[in-house]
Amino acid sequence: MTSTYDVVVVGLGISGSATVSALAARGASVLAVDTHGPTHRYGSSHGESRIFRRTYWEGTSYLPLLNRADRMWSELERAHGDVLTVRTGGLFMGDSTEGLVELSRHTAQDGCIPHEIWDAAEANARFDWLNLGPDISVLYEPGAYTLLADRARLALLDAAVRAGAVVRFGERALAVSSTAEGASVHLGSGETVSCGAIALSAGPWSNDFLADELPGILHPHRVPVYWFRTRFPGANEGMPAFVYESASGGVVYGCPEWGRGGREVKIGFHNRQQTPGDPSDPTPHRVGSTQQAEIVEAVSRFLTEIDPEPVRSAMCFYTMTPDGSFVIDRARSAPRLVYSAACSGHGFKFAPAIGECLALLALGEKPDLDLTAFARARFDVQRSDGSAAGELQRRGPRSRR
Ligand SMILES: Cc1cc2nc3c(=O)[nH]c(=O)nc-3n(C[C@H](O)[C@H](O)[C@H](O)COP(=O)(O)OP(=O)(O)OC[C@H]3O[C@@H](n4cnc5c(N)ncnc54)[C@H](O)[C@@H]3O)c2cc1C
Repeated sequence: MTSTYDVVVVGLGISGSATVSALAARGASVLAVDTHGPTHRYGSSHGESRIFRRTYWEGTSYLPLLNRADRMWSELERAHGDVLTVRTGGLFMGDSTEGLVELSRHTAQDGCIPHEIWDAAEANARFDWLNLGPDISVLYEPGAYTLLADRARLALLDAAVRAGAVVRFGERALAVSSTAEGASVHLGSGETVSCGAIALSAGPWSNDFLADELPGILHPHRVPVYWFRTRFPGANEGMPAFVYESASGGVVYGCPEWGRGGREVKIGFHNRQQTPGDPSDPTPHRVGSTQQAEIVEAVSRFLTEIDPEPVRSAMCFYTMTPDGSFVIDRARSAPRLVYSAACSGHGFKFAPAIGECLALLALGEKPDLDLTAFARARFDVQRSDGSAAGELQRRGPRSRR
């Protein structure tokens, strides 16, 4: 059987969900498929919460996408009519002379983003669950917030379906083909769907389709995440999302959770405990006791008022690139295939803006936002030492993994 659409979207994590929503809103006929169910736990987008922040230590090149995504999350929340964001503010803490706080301040100043700089004593006085050492300084971003991740993704899919998109879960794309004349997607159900373009956002499975396009660029890593019980209802008492960079370069993030009476906080390392992994490997992977001991030790350095051991933990995927950034582009040898690998553990917040750009690329239009910083071409130049060019542009807290 053959059917025809303007665009087929492959992968319905947060990036693909945003893409199908943007396409349907523009009146395109669109089929969107995902191998798994709507809130499955095998990729990168599931769960209750993600942090949205604009004082981006990763660099100012992200600001146009961040500003656009910020507006789009608010618009989605208004249109959806249910809570998708929780206005927590964000605390970014670390060594005062270099690293995360200094880089965040640079972006805040460049982007005119409201922020306050506090010393440790002031932060400890404002939040009695903090116990910062005297060398730590803090950037507070009042406009940072927590995105309710599963809800946000379902809201995007809901908007897409209401606007006429056809969404199929449990449907795997086996192969994609794109020529100057047209494109097609061969599905696990046996159907071949022809289309004007394919928009691919397959997360850690991206190498199934992009191994030739991005050779050696996308590296799926398993990464643990932990939930600690708080001795106070943090989520209900204005506990901000936070990121803490220790003197040894470990970066720990945390987000108050809204379920379970607001008495849990989700915590993980952003740049440690990553193990190369195959997302199609069905073996259950559990968090190791050494990994757990390391996070407990890191957390005990700056948080009080939480139980010392996590109540649960889980494995998730980061898809790492050499420079820790995204790749959003049109495939070099397949002009009707556009893709986003919005990855390296910080792509969720950008999803509406990336989805909009990908939708426009798929429809043959030029996005308003400049995507040069996220183009594949940055990896083309190889250094004499063999490292990819992107590695040189890496910017962020010391030791990213
Ligand atoms: C623990 C953790 C915490 C994070 N915290 C933050 C945060 O605070 N802020 C932030 O901005 N980002 C955060 N991130 C990163 C962010 O969640 C990811 O960058 C983002 O979710 C990536 O989404 P994606 O849609 O690209 O990939 P995925 O969510 O992995 O989606 C890919 C989808 O493609 C489908 N698929 C794959 N192959 C096929 C196929 N052949 N056919 C059909 N479907 C297919 C999969 O089933 C999957 O649903 C975090 C990530 C993790 C793991």
